[in-house]
Amino acid sequence: MNDNNRNGKRMAWIAAVVAVLALVPAVAGSFTVSLLNDIGIGALVALGLVLLTGVGGATSFGQAAFVGIAAYATAWLTTTQGMSPWIGLLFALLLTGLSALAIGMLTLRLGGHFLPLSTIAWGLSIAMLFGNVDALGRHTGLSNIPALRIAGWSLADPRAMYYLIWVVVGLACLFSHNLLQSRPGRAIRGLRGGATLLASVGADAYRVRLTLFVTAALFAGLAGWLYAHMNRFVSPSPFDVRASIEYLLMAVAGGLGQLAGALVGAALVLVLKNGLQDVLPMLTQRAGQLEAVAFATLFILLLHFARGGLMGLLRRWTRRRAGAQGASRYDAAVVDPLPHRQLPQRGTQVLSVKGAVKRFGGLVAVNDVSFEVNAGEIVGLIGPNGAGKSTMFNLLTCTLPMSAGQVRFLEHDIAGMPQRQVARLGLARTFQHVKLRPHMSLLDNVALGAHSRTRSGILKAGLRLDRAEEKQILQEAQRQLDRIGLGDRAHELAGSLPLGTQRILEIARALAADPVLLVLDEPAAGLRRKEKMALGDLLRKLREEGVTILIVEHDMDFVMKLVDRLVVMNFGSKLVEGVPSAVRADERVQAAYLGSVV
Ligand code: ADP
Ligand code: MG
Repeated sequence: MNDNNRNGKRMAWIAAVVAVLALVPAVAGSFTVSLLNDIGIGALVALGLVLLTGVGGATSFGQAAFVGIAAYATAWLTTTQGMSPWIGLLFALLLTGLSALAIGMLTLRLGGHFLPLSTIAWGLSIAMLFGNVDALGRHTGLSNIPALRIAGWSLADPRAMYYLIWVVVGLACLFSHNLLQSRPGRAIRGLRGGATLLASVGADAYRVRLTLFVTAALFAGLAGWLYAHMNRFVSPSPFDVRASIEYLLMAVAGGLGQLAGALVGAALVLVLKNGLQDVLPMLTQRAGQLEAVAFATLFILLLHFARGGLMGLLRRWTRRRAGAQGASRYDAAVVDPLPHRQLPQRGTQVLSVKGAVKRFGGLVAVNDVSFEVNAGEIVGLIGPNGAGKSTMFNLLTCTLPMSAGQVRFLEHDIAGMPQRQVARLGLARTFQHVKLRPHMSLLDNVALGAHSRTRSGILKAGLRLDRAEEKQILQEAQRQLDRIGLGDRAHELAGSLPLGTQRILEIARALAADPVLLVLDEPAAGLRRKEKMALGDLLRKLREEGVTILIVEHDMDFVMKLVDRLVVMNFGSKLVEGVPSAVRADERVQAAYLGSVV
């Protein structure tokens, strides 16, 4: 199936869902309409969680608190201050956004399990706050919240509210969909690859996560505003941690991997909850507790049998029927290329490392190493396994902090600089252990490389105002894919490539950054002979274009034919430096490393 076909099918699905949703109030009873209103509001919160948790990898057990902040904000402003609900909307979103920003700044740097744990902490405390502030009506809450009015038309009737809720849900889905196919969206999808991956393309993982966190909170805030003006009454309990867990359950049950999972999950959880509330009281007097048990069981079953949620199951099924994904080029109308960097004059110094030292506890992995690289050169860094080559690369790209020494890149002293800033100066790298996003397409993986050359943020992307720049990015990514010979497979998933080819894909990503210096850690490992020759040709061509290259490589034959100069390391120290023929003839090198191979 090709792209057009698949898009057509998806559009048909969406049109059918929209048509059914539009007809519901005409035919359904008021109970169904109210249930669908709740589902819409739940879906809005779950949508934020799909982005935050499913795509971005940060689990939040406190999302209901943001719903509550917005609901209470608009409730307070409209009841005690007599303001319009539309001012209430602005106030609610502002307060939710600022709270998320503050909480995010305090907690998002926490690693591992500490972040989800902290979400429970603030989720609990914010819900507690609602019940203890006099101005917010303590445990009785705030009532008589006005209904919404649009152009004189009252939305007091749930059937009228229904349309507003579902239009907002639809717009939020569209916004999220646009976002995921954009520069900030790729950075968000890259979050699970780790901070080092993002820093290597000049992005700040903390900032990306923070903006994502605020975005998800704003979705919850929108839901809270709708909730307050639909129910016309707020009290603390719908915003406690139990509610947060329910929202998370929606996202997980529907499928964290896909936006539609939020809708499906909200429907599943709320329909089930309603069903249980009807059935359980007939069986026992402790219905409330049993409901919690039923949900816990559902959660555990999901984690065992359907981690991808309902949408995941559905997708697996449709994919099996549709066969493998199509693999085509990105072919759109030609646009202006992204601006290029001015490369330094051939022969001028690009990189200079002086007395670099790296200690890991008692182990000195790099011991007082100095060397230089000039513009337009290919310099090879070789040495036996464990000699400290990768560590040296991590030092000079500022991926790891140095214990001592200096690094100069162009006219900057970069030792101690954040890695992303160094990347932005034009130092692009690949990794010995590949850092690609396996579930992103080849095109998207390479496009991530152009992050630092472009600017669009979440708002612009979500509103689709980034399209001119986005076309430039994708065109650049396709150009780099063509360069490495993978141009015809742009829409395949990176994870489907053999490991050797994934390394080459990392080179394309590095090239998309328009680098001055390209640092490659064992790019030829795992390649077949022909592929190695193609790689050699590519690197020579890059040198002709004025790109400077520093390369670690084990295949001596490959490296000797390629490089202008070699630096040999052994046991963390520099052994010798020189042109390939001299290094090949050097007795120390032969003794230490090359032995009889050369
Ligand atoms: P090479 O790339 O030349 O094979 P590395 O730079 O990967 O060598 O490793 C050099 C030495 O430093 C090895 O002894 C390795 O075990 C050690 N080393 C590398 N990274 C770390 C780390 N993060 N923590 C502790 N030791 C490390
Ligand atoms: Mg290594």
